Amino acid sequence: MLTIKNIRKSFGKDTILTGIDLDIKKGDVVVILGPSGSGKTTLLRCLNFLERADQGIATFGNQQINLATATKKEVLAVRQKTAFVFQNYNLFANKTALQNVTEGLIVGRKVKKEIAIERAKAALEKVGLADKMNLYPHQLSGGQQQRVGIARAVVLQPDIILFDEPTSALDPELVSEVLAVMKSIAKEGTTMLVVTHEMSFAKEVASHVVFMDSGAIVEQGSANDIFFQPKEERTRRFLRRVL
Ligand code: ATP
Repeated sequence: MLTIKNIRKSFGKDTILTGIDLDIKKGDVVVILGPSGSGKTTLLRCLNFLERADQGIATFGNQQINLATATKKEVLAVRQKTAFVFQNYNLFANKTALQNVTEGLIVGRKVKKEIAIERAKAALEKVGLADKMNLYPHQLSGGQQQRVGIARAVVLQPDIILFDEPTSALDPELVSEVLAVMKSIAKEGTTMLVVTHEMSFAKEVASHVVFMDSGAIVEQGSANDIFFQPKEERTRRFLRRVL
């Protein structure tokens, strides 16, 4: 579904990604773990062109895209296949929950307004917010805002949803409602690439876990492999600190 080859990225003199390869199959929930500053978010951002990689090839199905040199048209093509869920939700403050969810369909995908509204209502229902669709972000809790963020991604029916630490801006008591929504869309077969510090989510939901450190993949495997039989000392050290 998505293959990534040799993504490299530096900011000035600092090399952040040193050559990342990854293979994601349809329906996979791939969770990326790693210490702060290891490059997890940068990797996701390079995949969606929120940052420009210095090097790297992403192959979506049979379409190969050079992440460093992609044209505007190729960038748009990738954005049609992916959706991004941000740590800080990134909702439009002056639009209701419903308008936030329809926006990408109407503006980005040129879907007719009435159809967009129907699809957005269904997506908001899926994340448990059917009764809040006419509220503005400031009238919603952080957990509810993030669920709107997830509905906005789901409604686009992308090939893959990229989640960038979706619960790390939330008060602890609001984390579980967002993880529950993520779990339910994973169960439906949504392909997901998730950067998170939520180890229980990784253990329970991930079909594949990737451990990154210093801009490189140290080790990857099933949740069972990584949590219970890690091969690398760096992985073991990280897990001792976070579990
Ligand atoms: P965390 O778990 O804390 O979010 P992370 O593994 O997601 O960390 P990144 O956010 O990818 O790490 O950041 C990796 C490194 O890249 C950090 O040292 C960060 O300061 C640096 N970095 C990220 N974005 C930029 C930028 N736009 N300009 C300069 N440096 C950046």
